[in-house]
Amino acid sequence: MSKKQLVEQFNLRSRLKFNIDEGNIWLDENRMLLLHASAFGALRTELIQSLGVLRAKGLLLRMGFESGQRDAELARKLIDSGEPYDVFRIGPLLHAFEGLVKAEITSAEIDWDKGVFNGAVDWEGSWEAESHIQTFGIGGEVACWTLAGYASGYVTRFFNRFVVFREEQCLCCGDDKCSIVGKPAEEWDDQEYVKLFKPDNIDREIRELREEVTNLRESLCSKRGRGNLIGESQAFKSAFHLLERAADSPINVLLLGETGVGKEVFAHWLHKNSGRAEGPFVALNCSAIPHDLIESELFGVRKGAYTGAEESRRGRFERADGGTLFLDEVGDLSPAAQVKLLRVLQTGELERLGDDKTIKVDVRLVAATNVNLNEAITSGRFRSDLYYRLATYPVQIPPLRERKSDIPLLAEAMIAKYAPLYSKKIKGLSDKAVHALIEYDWPGNVRELENLIERGVLLAPSGGVLELEHVLMQGAAATVTEVAVDKAGTVQNPKKEGELRAFESLLDDGFDLGRHEQTLMTMAVDKAGGNLTHAAKLLGISRRQLAYRLAKSSESYEE
Ligand SMILES: [Zn+2]
Repeated sequence: MSKKQLVEQFNLRSRLKFNIDEGNIWLDENRMLLLHASAFGALRTELIQSLGVLRAKGLLLRMGFESGQRDAELARKLIDSGEPYDVFRIGPLLHAFEGLVKAEITSAEIDWDKGVFNGAVDWEGSWEAESHIQTFGIGGEVACWTLAGYASGYVTRFFNRFVVFREEQCLCCGDDKCSIVGKPAEEWDDQEYVKLFKPDNIDREIRELREEVTNLRESLCSKRGRGNLIGESQAFKSAFHLLERAADSPINVLLLGETGVGKEVFAHWLHKNSGRAEGPFVALNCSAIPHDLIESELFGVRKGAYTGAEESRRGRFERADGGTLFLDEVGDLSPAAQVKLLRVLQTGELERLGDDKTIKVDVRLVAATNVNLNEAITSGRFRSDLYYRLATYPVQIPPLRERKSDIPLLAEAMIAKYAPLYSKKIKGLSDKAVHALIEYDWPGNVRELENLIERGVLLAPSGGVLELEHVLMQGAAATVTEVAVDKAGTVQNPKKEGELRAFESLLDDGFDLGRHEQTLMTMAVDKAGGNLTHAAKLLGISRRQLAYRLAKSSESYEE
């Protein structure tokens, strides 16, 4: 198959999207940059001058390696639609597509099953050679490092085996072309070169020092770890600092915030970081318990107190003795339960239902609500005296849409949590998936994100990344307008990718516009239960237009 046919078969151009309004370029799931070769060249020069050739070479190889791996992910997705060798050829094709070099495979000995790989590639028009020669002139060493890194990363990810390419000839050292040879890492005699693909010590040292600084800084500004509370955004940190200050004191904390912001996780943190950490943490969602059962649930019941109370039972307060009781949705408490709760808070004493024996309890109460309790007070549904007891120390937990910068951190933590549960190795999120997660509005907050990530982990292939299709949220992706480049290289009208694909497959099956129109109209009318106005709305046309077309199509079918 020719290169041109390959480009067409894999629809590469339609996978490149310019979203100019948002300032994004996408190649499938990867965010791309259209950057000046001269700017990249300047960065490259500075790396060589400041770090020395060897370290700069390592950095550039690894940078290329990373982008080769990303492109291999894309190629692996295309494997269903082509022969393995053709898919392997997409590597050079993508390299050319991205404007880096024209690459021609000159030899390839590939045994997919045995994991054998020996390959050679000739390059023409290497951007890196051009840039290197411009600054340093022709010297004694090959210098197309990002390109060799790319080839290595591509084949490594593609084969799931560490394959290393080394440039053997290069314009930079006076050869008449650049060419590379690749084979499995362990087969190279030159292991010094292979080692360059692993992050070198300076990176590790810097990383370790940085971690140490972060840890020291954390232990200076805060006595405690964050545990399951994850976030670096300003909104998150202000809530966290408030919480932190209350941890050691016996004060009753009221957690405020929308459903799904993770109030129970905050309450649990408070417990774990208080003097009661060794005691029990008991949680109860007041809205989940029927009104007539809430009192026995909270305060316990004596045997025979009512029909069905077959034995005496401790309530949540007694079970939380010496620890923390977390009452979620406290605004839903019945008036009778509110009276009793107030009494426990005032006296530290309670009686089980149907019992007059007084029991002393030592419980720290953390309450939470997602309703406006002030309104509930005004309308008489909540006691104001109880409110003042509960709300001595209110902490507002921000909704996820006000702490979007925390989304990547949260998502990574959730992947780390769920991947082992589903026995998978997940390499994080694709750029596009991250972008979509950040664009979305999150009405269901952290809980919604967590559900989505769990489902994504289930759907994603092991060893891969979570892509947009694995974490699609309703109505979110549709808001992204993108522009595809057609075969002639011109920019087309905005179209949703899914829509395009659906149309494409329709066209492949031998399209009949009249028949499809008829089918669509029949479906819409059925769906609308025969109501033409409603059916027309589903189709995005007027009732009159629909009636006209229906009449016309029945005519043509009668003919
Ligand atoms: Zn070269």
